[in-house]
Amino acid sequence: MKKNIKSLAIFGGNPTFTNVLPVGQLNLPDWESFERSFRGIFSRRYYTNHGPLAQELESRLSNFFGVAHVICTTNATIALMLAAKALELKGKVVLPAYTFIATAQSLTWSGLEPVFCDVDAETHMITAEAIEPLIDDNVSAILGVHLWGGACTPVDLEALASKYNINVYFDAAHAFGCSCAGVNIGNFGNLEVFSFHATKVLNAAEGGCICTNDTDLAKRLRNIRSSYGAGESVDVPVTCNGRMSEAQAAMALLALEEYPRIRQENKDRMDVYMQLLVDIPGIAFIQQKAEGAYNYQYVVVAVDSSLFGLDRDQLVAVLEAENILCRRYFFPGVHRSIPYSQNYPQYENALPVTDMLCNNVLQLPSGALVSLDDVRSICELIRFIYNNACLIKSKL
Ligand SMILES: *Cc1c(COP(=O)(O)O)cnc(C)c1O
Repeated sequence: MKKNIKSLAIFGGNPTFTNVLPVGQLNLPDWESFERSFRGIFSRRYYTNHGPLAQELESRLSNFFGVAHVICTTNATIALMLAAKALELKGKVVLPAYTFIATAQSLTWSGLEPVFCDVDAETHMITAEAIEPLIDDNVSAILGVHLWGGACTPVDLEALASKYNINVYFDAAHAFGCSCAGVNIGNFGNLEVFSFHATKVLNAAEGGCICTNDTDLAKRLRNIRSSYGAGESVDVPVTCNGRMSEAQAAMALLALEEYPRIRQENKDRMDVYMQLLVDIPGIAFIQQKAEGAYNYQYVVVAVDSSLFGLDRDQLVAVLEAENILCRRYFFPGVHRSIPYSQNYPQYENALPVTDMLCNNVLQLPSGALVSLDDVRSICELIRFIYNNACLIKSKL
């Protein structure tokens, strides 16, 4: 517990944590299970090319999501690129400006023009109302993004896409295990893409998958994923290597078994954060509006400097000195990153909510390496910082 501001690490005091507290999930299976799985891979000598573990994972995930087809991939970025090809998209695609850069990069790789849409200040996600004015004859799809372990409004986006007879698909990298209006994420739009990166709630070290209920689309995706055409061979415009290895599938299968426990632990951390921070002025949790299940993967708050006394970057600097890593999300914004800032200068001042969020949003530590006591210490520290904000600011 800090007594006065001199005891803050940024002013020379001892850091609250001796070891650095990470932000991400970093959930790992126990070593014995991992070893058993890997011995199996070694004894079969079947390392890749849609092996038995990749096949088992696809069928388990298909049950988990309640979706007809799951196509596992090397990672989610490749999956989004395969998706754009399988949907034969042309021209422009509307996506939220407030997202991870890979969402937009997948379009650039596919020769498509991203059309950045501003987001809702409370949910941080796009809405059908904001997308509609951006749709013209050159727009072939909407690429929705489910953020922060919740869902954007997929039913509204589907209705909008069908009104204009265009495609709609989703970057669901954050939305493993979530649902909306009683339907699991994975079942919306033409397809949905999940990520199994190490910082995501389901960790396969690297990995991802595409979910779809469209059998023809699934066949095309499988053919595009493997240059040699795994499964039934159908004509596709281009092929690639987006296969998931057996090693990744082994990790993902173990992680899938652990998911209910991981989700519960995430929720426990989230509950403590919310309980201890909710009354601090200028610290706002996201208001999830959609009815449904969440994975509580990201503890995300927006910092309002006029109420809190310090701005987001000042708070990050104070916390990082205490060995509490925080992530500024998404920073810089996609439209302010190369190549988009150069190629599409029209967005410079056209996305006020996205700019506000890029400047104010902070992800606090959660995941496997963060205990409930750690969370309590972080909250106590944030309260101390709030109570002394004026003085801290004057000395920064
Ligand atoms: C992590 C992430 C991706 C990329 O996933 P990879 O599996 O790392 O390629 C895409 N979109 C969003 C929103 C993400 O958070």
